[in-house]
Amino acid sequence: MVWNAIQSMDCHPSAERVFHNLQKGQSKVSRASVFRILGDLSDEGRILRIKMPVGPDCFDHRLEKHYHIQCTKCGAVADIFMETPGILRTPENLQGFTLTGIGIVYEGLCPHCQ
Ligand SMILES: [Zn+2]
Ligand SMILES: [Zn+2]
Repeated sequence: MVWNAIQSMDCHPSAERVFHNLQKGQSKVSRASVFRILGDLSDEGRILRIKMPVGPDCFDHRLEKHYHIQCTKCGAVADIFMETPGILRTPENLQGFTLTGIGIVYEGLCPHCQ
């Protein structure tokens, strides 16, 4: 049910928005369950969890490699499909960390806010 809600919400919803969407559908599922199930689904790779620079994590049903742009005014998120940006290099000194990934979210003003 939670997974289906994500599929039907083509807007990179936060966990809170998924919960409200399910409530509108008369679902009795609790907020805690929705948050836990979203975590499980992203751990299983069935949805993506996107850490946003501003605001809560978003969830995405599109699993193919892509990037995101977020409106700095209203927080709307859109998909950007492109090759890995050429400016990215692996740092020479990772301060003892093991690199597991990198998060890129572009920022801008959405058509509505311009
Ligand atoms: Zn906007
Ligand atoms: Zn996306």
